[in-house]
Amino acid sequence: GREWHLVRRPDGEPVPDDFALRERPVGQPSEGHVLVKNLYFSVDPYMRGRMDDVKSYTPPFQLDQPMAGGAVGQVVASQADGFSEGDYVLHFGGWREYASVPAKHLTKVDPDAAPLSAYLGVLGMTGLTAYSGLLRVAEFKEGDAVFVSGAAGAVGSEVGQIARLKGASRVIGSAGSDEKVKFLTEELGFDAAFNYKNGPVADQLREAAPAGIDVYFDNVGGDHLEAAISRLNTHGRIAVCGMISQYNSTKPTSAPRNLALLIGKRLRMEGMLVQDHADLQGQFIEDVSRWVRSGDLKYRETVVRGVDNGVEAFLGLMRGENTGKMIVDLTD
Ligand code: NDP
Repeated sequence: GREWHLVRRPDGEPVPDDFALRERPVGQPSEGHVLVKNLYFSVDPYMRGRMDDVKSYTPPFQLDQPMAGGAVGQVVASQADGFSEGDYVLHFGGWREYASVPAKHLTKVDPDAAPLSAYLGVLGMTGLTAYSGLLRVAEFKEGDAVFVSGAAGAVGSEVGQIARLKGASRVIGSAGSDEKVKFLTEELGFDAAFNYKNGPVADQLREAAPAGIDVYFDNVGGDHLEAAISRLNTHGRIAVCGMISQYNSTKPTSAPRNLALLIGKRLRMEGMLVQDHADLQGQFIEDVSRWVRSGDLKYRETVVRGVDNGVEAFLGLMRGENTGKMIVDLTD
């Protein structure tokens, strides 16, 4: 099977030569392991951090080893109780065609309950991030006005819709193209949205949120965070989920320059990691699958076909070529 290796640590923006697609023989699984043929794998912004050799909440990718990440596949051979050939499973051995995975790292998924790729996005890690970040970390309550950046992406598009469904007074999103802005307001029911490339974020946010905001869900950092701090009402909350505008930068950012506003406005700002919120999984699946079935919550995926296009999918994600979850499809 083919698998993607990191062969050089990126300097700033990653380039295709930082990666190599290599062939490795597919063996039988060892005791307690399951051999999975991957059908879909996920590419995610946090993987950029794992490409650097720095201490973080996830260990760096090792050079000349397969990269890891979320994947859904089908069991082709099992040496573990509870799993048999044909089962569909969610696991962490992505970026490759075949993975041998310890049974304790596998979760069965039901292909009849949802399309398999949904377990990587709307009903998966990015979905739980949106749900827990908004409802728990940002302490969203009915009547809040919510601003989310990266709003047309996997996490952001779900944050905005959950806020709407839970009774937000106003939902505002920002994204990187006019087409994405249209998608937010015309298809996902955002009250207002703007293209951050069309002018200063602070000016566009002021226009979109004349009465201020109560919650800022940050996926971007930098200018977006600064603008949100200026726009937040007293006792507003910021959930710091991501700062993608900085992931490729080689020097520290200058914004936000207005942190002193946290004092007078009594703002609260809290970083989050989705893995701390696994206890919400049941409630999350119940709410979101109900909304998906009823059509109240819509989701889109950008699907790139073929393992050989995996790196292009990741690079495209970092450039904003996706709307909704970016998925690599290995089927057929
Ligand atoms: P997305 O689907 O949102 O894809 C990334 C998007 O980021 C792109 O589509 C692009 O959209 C946008 N982007 C890229 N560069 C910039 C930039 N310089 N300024 C503004 N926007 C930019 O990815 P996810 O939904 O998977 O992740 C969203 C955020 O959530 C990321 O920051 C990620 O790190 C974070 N995250 C955090 C988790 C946690 O536990 N803390 C868990 C999961 C995700 P556009 O066209 O709008 O620019």
